[in-house]
Amino acid sequence: MRFRSFLAPSVALAGGALLCTSGSGKAYNFLGGMLDLGQRDFRVHNNFNDPEANDNTTPSLAFPGQTGAVRAIWAAVAEWGSEPRRDGGGDQHQPGDLGSGGANFDSTFQGLAPDPGGTDDNVFSEITGNSGGVLAFTELPINDGWRIRFYRAPTIWHDGPGAPPGGSDHKDLQGVATHEYGHALGLDHSTNSLDNTMFPGSSGNFYDKRSLAADDIAGVQALYGVRSPAKPHISAFDVLGGQLTIHGTNFAASGNQVWFTPAGQGDGTPVMVQNLTSTQSGTRLDLSIPPGAGSGDLLVRTPGDTGDRLSNAYPADLLLGECPLVESYGTAKVNSLGTSSLLEFSGSPSLAIDNFSLFVTLGGYGSSSGILFHGQTEAATPFMGGTLYSKGPFVRDQTFVFGFFGDVQLPLPISPAMVGQTHHYQLWYVDPGDSFGVGLSNAVKVSFCP
Ligand SMILES: [Zn+2]
Repeated sequence: MRFRSFLAPSVALAGGALLCTSGSGKAYNFLGGMLDLGQRDFRVHNNFNDPEANDNTTPSLAFPGQTGAVRAIWAAVAEWGSEPRRDGGGDQHQPGDLGSGGANFDSTFQGLAPDPGGTDDNVFSEITGNSGGVLAFTELPINDGWRIRFYRAPTIWHDGPGAPPGGSDHKDLQGVATHEYGHALGLDHSTNSLDNTMFPGSSGNFYDKRSLAADDIAGVQALYGVRSPAKPHISAFDVLGGQLTIHGTNFAASGNQVWFTPAGQGDGTPVMVQNLTSTQSGTRLDLSIPPGAGSGDLLVRTPGDTGDRLSNAYPADLLLGECPLVESYGTAKVNSLGTSSLLEFSGSPSLAIDNFSLFVTLGGYGSSSGILFHGQTEAATPFMGGTLYSKGPFVRDQTFVFGFFGDVQLPLPISPAMVGQTHHYQLWYVDPGDSFGVGLSNAVKVSFCP
């Protein structure tokens, strides 16, 4: 089979919306090639010169060590991954759902590139000039690698995390990168539905292209195979000193490789530790962190060359280690208004990031006062018509007053003394119409990390 990509060496994405044709069944199409396990790397040459392309400076556990355009592009590639990235967080457009491909396909972030590289060096970068409404293009052939360029003018590239502002030249870097990486991995344009990431156009700023549609998912699965139940899977890691423990499933008894992102610039070849033996029935790998490894993606490759031998890409901050996932549990007591105050959370429980916050959107008792408290041990004790979800001794963190709609924001500054502690937070508030006079929320369990 001749690769059509040789005949059409680049696939460009036009800025304006195109008319969609009606049709049924599949809309995805193939370019005629695919990326083997030696081509799963990608790098970013961050020469994006719009200030808006690098003004998202908020750290994220999902993309350790990177912000701005690099983080946006990393998220774009991660969306094609085989399973939700860590807890699926890291993209405001699709909370909890980053990593939607469901195929035997995962990629590895290999750091920053010093230049745009050649046409098969797997680098994202910006290029000067423009081309008649084309925003970006992917250079092929894909089997040997690819190169993705974004035109500098007239587009104003935005790195998110939210949607770009109005104005036709304002485009979402992540959304367009998600489309272009679809070409890099072997998908041609989808023939219908503006909703598809691989449709060659958008009705707006391409923000909606960040999230794969069912047809895009069907396309990557048809190309690489539906994610195998035997595919290695990383679920967590620990760092202690220079020692790394990786937890997961389906690691080989022997011959495992662990792939790291390099610290600083790399050449696209993962920093690697080879010939590792797993323990605990293929669920654990222990190794020393190799020289040159930096924070980034962690992957495990088991012996063999097929896509089902490479694990998911797990975000790993080798300096901070991993903060345990924050968990919401229990059920809020229904108050005398018939509503219940659902305690939610945002941000990271990391001291280094320090943006953790608890909040209630709706459902508290409007204008009523209350107390945020925590215990250190989980429990479920009936209390005043509701449930106390931790045991004493209780600590009062702060008092608050619900807004008119029963909403409240409770930022929780993290102090060094909190690192290593686990708190089970809950709200107690005044409910004048309740027989006990008391309202209670559900609980949120947080373990603070460095
Ligand atoms: Zn395209």
